[in-house]
Amino acid sequence: MNPYREQASLIKAMAHPTRLHILDILSRGEACVCHLTTILKHRQPNISQHLMVLREAGLVRDRRDGIVVYYRLADDRTPQVIVLTREILRSRGFEVEFPPIPTLPVKGCPCPKCGGEGPCI
Ligand SMILES: [Zn+2]
Repeated sequence: MNPYREQASLIKAMAHPTRLHILDILSRGEACVCHLTTILKHRQPNISQHLMVLREAGLVRDRRDGIVVYYRLADDRTPQVIVLTREILRSRGFEVEFPPIPTLPVKGCPCPKCGGEGPCI
């Protein structure tokens, strides 16, 4: 087994703008699909597909609470990858600010954590 292959598949699972954004949001705490959909302004099937890639790579875990499925980071060290790659970009003069992760409650979000009553599946 080539250890670089394992490492590459982990990085590959992260290497998508939407998936990095999802990981960034989850670094602040667990979230359900509709919460992520509200923040990212993507369609729910698209977010679910990215979550599946992240889950299969072992980067996120899920937890069911009634009909709502919450996703969280599987490893507390994952945000360090995001921070480190941003530091590398900044050291090259890349000065674009990343969007702040909204605090709860997110306006217009139907999820229970934002005080909504759904639908949130
Ligand atoms: Zn929400």
